[in-house]
Amino acid sequence: MKLGWIGLGNMGVPMATNLKKAGYELYIYNRTKEKAKELIELGAIFKETPKELTESVDVVITMVSDDTAVREVYTEESGVLAGLTPGKIAIDMSTISPSTSREIAALCAEKGVKMLDAPVSGSVAPAKAGELVVLVGGDKETYETCKPIFDVVGKASFYLGENGAGSNAKLAINSMLGIYIQGLAETVLFAERAGIPRETMLEIVKLSAVGAPIVNIKTASIIEDQYPAAFALKHATKDLRLAMEKAKEMDIQFPLIEKTASTYQAALAAGLGELDLMAILTYITQELKK
Ligand code: NAP
Repeated sequence: MKLGWIGLGNMGVPMATNLKKAGYELYIYNRTKEKAKELIELGAIFKETPKELTESVDVVITMVSDDTAVREVYTEESGVLAGLTPGKIAIDMSTISPSTSREIAALCAEKGVKMLDAPVSGSVAPAKAGELVVLVGGDKETYETCKPIFDVVGKASFYLGENGAGSNAKLAINSMLGIYIQGLAETVLFAERAGIPRETMLEIVKLSAVGAPIVNIKTASIIEDQYPAAFALKHATKDLRLAMEKAKEMDIQFPLIEKTASTYQAALAAGLGELDLMAILTYITQELKK
């Protein structure tokens, strides 16, 4: 099976690297070519456009920023759709809205191509370790065909139903992530204001029932108060916005998701979007000073 990988950002590079190391013949494309350097050195073949890449492979995988990026990569003149022929498979692993997932699946179907939405839970460290959780919507048989790919990048994959189902599950879990990270930031700041050092409070959280693996992942950055992006705040804000849109579509109001989404939106407006989502702590600190 020849694989094509589009999108070599924080997640794309480690995921594609694992597939190359697992022995797949791998073709790659990224808008900014220099990010492909490491993979080219590993033997991946760079193609100049998504169309050329798609023409060269059996399965094309996209891992790009958001709905706009996915739409562009698929529909531009030299995009994925232009290279698809019947029998190929398309997988989108980006976190996007379920309606866009369905829209892209319909465009692929017109080309005789099955498309899976397969966003992932887990950040850069699990991506490097091949321990993501893959959330899949689309045709079940196509999922079974692609499961060996998901087994390389992830520790588990879930088949959840028709197109859009993977994206729905992803928005649900990232709502919890956004809420939890804001909760962690407020807990640490609450304790600090009350005279308990960050380091101590984080130890208490980790040893208590409310501890979670994400606390270990974020501890060093919280103590150093440095937030280089593993999962950029701009992407977390996008996910909360998409969750709100989905909630509206379902005619439900979720009080915490709404509140959290507005905090992240304000942090984005304050210029913190390129930092890690844990920089929500920086934003709340700035607000406390006002
Ligand atoms: P990232 O580091 O910001 O990388 C984004 C990628 O998308 C880059 O390869 C970028 O190309 C490409 N891109 C953006 N706009 C494009 C366009 N219009 N046309 C073509 N390519 C475009 O993002 P990431 O952290 O890898 O995340 C990728 C996706 O996974 C997002 O949907 C994110 O929400 C989701 N996700 C992220 C994490 C995480 O922890 N980071 C975890 C789970 C899911 P350039 O290099 O040219 O800019």
